[in-house]
Amino acid sequence: MSSAEMRHEILKEIAQETLDKLPKLARVRFGENTFNDQVMREKLPKDVYKKLRETIRKGAKLDLSIANSVAHAMKEWAISKGVTHFTHWFQPQTGLTAEKHDSFFELEADGQVIERFKGDQLVQGEPDASSFPSGGRRTTFEARGYTMWDPSSPAFIIEGPNGGGILCIPSVFISYTGEALDKKTPLLRSMESINKAALRVLRLFGNTKASRVVPTVGTEQEYFLIDKRYFNLRPDLRLTGRTLIGAEPPKGQQLEDHYFGTIKERVLAFMQDAEQELYRLGVPAKTRHNEVAPHQYEIAPIFAELNVGADRNQLIMEILRKTANRHGLALLLHEKPFKGVNGSGKHNNWSISDSEGNNLLDPGKTPEENLQFLVFLVAILRAVYQYGDLLRASIASAGNDHRLGANEAPPAIMSVFLGERLTEILNDIKAGKEIKKTEEFIIDLGISKLPSILRDNTDRNRTSPFAFTGNKFEFRAVGSAASISLPNTVLSAAVADSLDVISDEIDAELKKGTEFNAAVLNVLKKHIIETEPIRFEGNNYSKEWEEEAARRGLPNVKRTAYALDAFIAPKNVDMLLRQNVFSKEELEARYHIRLEQYVKTLDIEVDTLCDIIQTSVLPAALKYQSYLISSIKDFQSIKQINGLSAAPMEETLQKVNQAISDLAQRCHELSTALKKGLEIDDVRDQARYFADHIVDLLEKTREPADRLETIIPDDIWPFPKYSEMLFIM
Ligand code: ADP
Ligand code: MG
Repeated sequence: MSSAEMRHEILKEIAQETLDKLPKLARVRFGENTFNDQVMREKLPKDVYKKLRETIRKGAKLDLSIANSVAHAMKEWAISKGVTHFTHWFQPQTGLTAEKHDSFFELEADGQVIERFKGDQLVQGEPDASSFPSGGRRTTFEARGYTMWDPSSPAFIIEGPNGGGILCIPSVFISYTGEALDKKTPLLRSMESINKAALRVLRLFGNTKASRVVPTVGTEQEYFLIDKRYFNLRPDLRLTGRTLIGAEPPKGQQLEDHYFGTIKERVLAFMQDAEQELYRLGVPAKTRHNEVAPHQYEIAPIFAELNVGADRNQLIMEILRKTANRHGLALLLHEKPFKGVNGSGKHNNWSISDSEGNNLLDPGKTPEENLQFLVFLVAILRAVYQYGDLLRASIASAGNDHRLGANEAPPAIMSVFLGERLTEILNDIKAGKEIKKTEEFIIDLGISKLPSILRDNTDRNRTSPFAFTGNKFEFRAVGSAASISLPNTVLSAAVADSLDVISDEIDAELKKGTEFNAAVLNVLKKHIIETEPIRFEGNNYSKEWEEEAARRGLPNVKRTAYALDAFIAPKNVDMLLRQNVFSKEELEARYHIRLEQYVKTLDIEVDTLCDIIQTSVLPAALKYQSYLISSIKDFQSIKQINGLSAAPMEETLQKVNQAISDLAQRCHELSTALKKGLEIDDVRDQARYFADHIVDLLEKTREPADRLETIIPDDIWPFPKYSEMLFIM
């Protein structure tokens, strides 16, 4: 069957698609597949449980004296649920998660096989680190790393497709020299830096109760779903995650309502199934809805402590993918799967919370609490102002470049939206020249009435990359396919650093004898003035903002190859070192890995595009060309009889000829450029070359192919079209 015939078969089948084939959802218990607190309490000896709780509460490492006991309980629990294998589940720097399954079985000296899982296996596995990207950091003798359970994230069971299961142990991945080889270790370190810096602020405000402060995160994950059979017919989707060719559907084809009933049912069945799976894994999926683009959806869980939230987002992506597969659907997590159609992102909702359960970005009930709130708020403004380039770098990828700066997503310019009321307050603090009678000043400012006002202040700016939304910040520029670890590591470290600076300055004021509230307001005033350029309340998608931002001196780095430089900029390196989040070597490693990934992504895209043009698009075009030629010949032989003209056919033939020759020429240009690029030794130069020469050429090369798609008869066009993938399900 030709690909075109297959497409038409799929169309027929989808029309008859019934949901009856899907098994009915069973009743499940929340977290039944996690080794959570309840299970630990049941299965562990009291003293071990207490020690483990303490470890988790403090965010400390697992105490070896209890490891054996915990491992044993974990194994017994897992085996009782049909588990046969275990794996350390970790985040290497590829953006995915890694696992290597080991069976519980071990061979005894007498040849007996027994099931065993000891403390040292819980604490460290030994995957061979040499095949994970390290950014050229590792010499051979230190090529080995180990993984270690992060006890603050509960172990969980992933069930096999036909029963049986794998015990997954969320882990960090470190080299023997102590270098972080993964994304989670720096994330945990950044949590520690927030803890220290924020506690110091709380103590300044006389809070002696809170014993720990943690960042919290909740991710709104966007994704596309298309019929799996279409996906299989598109090598570009399979290999690169996005369509490298494809004519944009004509405007006004948003006739989804037409299909709405059907779409809803098939997708709803998928969502319910995925959510149930997540539910069993202790991931509280809370909201689901359709997104702007056709076939685009969103899922968001209830927020959690940062490292758990980050693990959950990885799990959400994995479970969505698996479930989609089971439902005959393909999950597209790429930031821009379809040209001319809105792309996908991830809204990273971030806040900080103390051990007493107080959200520190929630204005309090008293003026003092509100002043403390303003300290955290201004520290965040300072973090984005000082380290906006680093935040931009943390979300940079070839995929996300398609989105940032298009008219649909927050731009590559980092700015903060605060809303009218907070803006007013900050402006008042800025204007309050000498803050003498602070009590009066505070009442004048209206910060004693903050909470109710903010809650009412529901008008939101949807275009801001970094928006305050009542009691949290929403970092909206994160890519849909990316791990949230790095952006949150950078954000947490930068905020911690700003909190340190502000605390130091308040201390200095107090030493001079300034009264407390006045001291705080003086310091805030200084930073409010300094950070003003990154506050923007208008439309971030507009051309005017780009110009205005340039006038304000804000960076606007559109391509990843250049944005990544922020990882090695001295001011950023200093800050991350100061906060003990990265070492210089670890940063350089990440810088190199990301440059390499950028180049590789584009390299694969070029190869795939040239390949599908050569092996599918051109042959289809040539077929139509020869059909037209023989039709014209036939026509000419009879035209004397009826006096008709072959002109329309000749015109089409002209168009086809033109597109074929454009396509051949541009493909040649593209592969020549690629060849040149691949010869560049230095990865930084290479990435820049790709950014400057390959990215636009990819677009230029697809153009004649997209033109052909609108000329060539449907029954010889080799690929599913946007109109099929996005409007039929
Ligand atoms: P929207 O932004 O679309 O209005 P929601 O208000 O439902 O969406 O929140 C989006 C996400 O923000 C959810 O994942 C939610 O759990 C998360 N969230 C809410 N409060 C916090 C918080 N204090 N810290 C981190 N994330 C939070
Ligand atoms: Mg939101």
